[in-house]
Amino acid sequence: MATVDATEKQAADNLAAGKVIEIQADEAICFSEIADRVVAGEVLSKSSAERLLKTPDDQILDLLAGAFKIRQKYFGKTVQLYFLMNAKSGLCPEDCSYCSQSKVSDAPVEKYNILDRESLLDGARVAAERQSKTYCMVISARGPNEREMKAVEEIIPEIKEKYDLKICACLGLLSQEQADRLKKCGVDRVNHNLNTSADFYKSICSTHSYEDRKDTLGAVRNAGMEICSGGIVGMGEKNSDIVDMAFELNELKAESIPVNFLNAIEGTPLQNISYLTPNFCLKVLAMFRFVNPKSEIRISGGREIHLRSLQPLGLYAANSMFVGDYLTTKGQPPESDYRMIEDLGFEITREEEVATTV
Ligand code: SF4
Repeated sequence: MATVDATEKQAADNLAAGKVIEIQADEAICFSEIADRVVAGEVLSKSSAERLLKTPDDQILDLLAGAFKIRQKYFGKTVQLYFLMNAKSGLCPEDCSYCSQSKVSDAPVEKYNILDRESLLDGARVAAERQSKTYCMVISARGPNEREMKAVEEIIPEIKEKYDLKICACLGLLSQEQADRLKKCGVDRVNHNLNTSADFYKSICSTHSYEDRKDTLGAVRNAGMEICSGGIVGMGEKNSDIVDMAFELNELKAESIPVNFLNAIEGTPLQNISYLTPNFCLKVLAMFRFVNPKSEIRISGGREIHLRSLQPLGLYAANSMFVGDYLTTKGQPPESDYRMIEDLGFEITREEEVATTV
């Protein structure tokens, strides 16, 4: 035990001292050694994180082994499952170009206002049955109106009384007053994705700004809730944008980081963008693990279509995923996910496992 304490103290000292890992341009990378240094509290420079994204494909297993070393240190072989409920669909006045529910999308998605009490409760039942740790209630909106706030405030205590579930609310932009109300009614965590870098943000949305999103995350933190925030890869951004986002999330100390791979839905402005490869997606997940060692990293939307047969390898870097369908697209059957986790020798956990905020 004394050894563990000494190691952790050393890690905290290294972090406080701001020890930075610089990988030189012509240097052969020993991913295992870098993983050890990350666990010891050193942090990658942005240029070094970009180098991870350029790992040659024939070194992908070494990269993942390094990422796994970090993952195993903080999360062992556990996998946390999340269940998504699209509590209000379509009808969004915002113009996020990746989103099938935006005002600029022609995608034929269902359109409905916030679900009634029975439907929201039923979603919680399914989440619990599917061994999810967290029930994610999502509405399509710039931010919640008063009716939506009241619906959430009413249903959450009821869900928490009936089921052993954490609640994550994704309701769009929030004022401090709204964030405080969510905390008060029992919301554990708020999801609000940065989506990409500050620089690239204006290329994907004009109706609100990156700063608006950061302000909401500030309100969430002030209210005393956990932050779930991540992004979407594959929208035409540069590798440096992906790295900038990973570092910003580290600064925000996001407890949970969903990493989506663009599912270019027909009818959205980004419908023709599709260039991701399974190996690149794995490099992205590994880079997020090296930059955010203690955060829960979730392989999110686009998992099935972009990682394809390499999905299991993603869990060597990430420690979480959604089970079931996404907001407006289908996921694979839950049984396939359970089998994948079992085949890997990993185990589903419903324990409290946030290892962040050093
Ligand atoms: S605010 Fe949310 S629901 Fe609305 S368009 Fe953007 S991503 Fe889609």
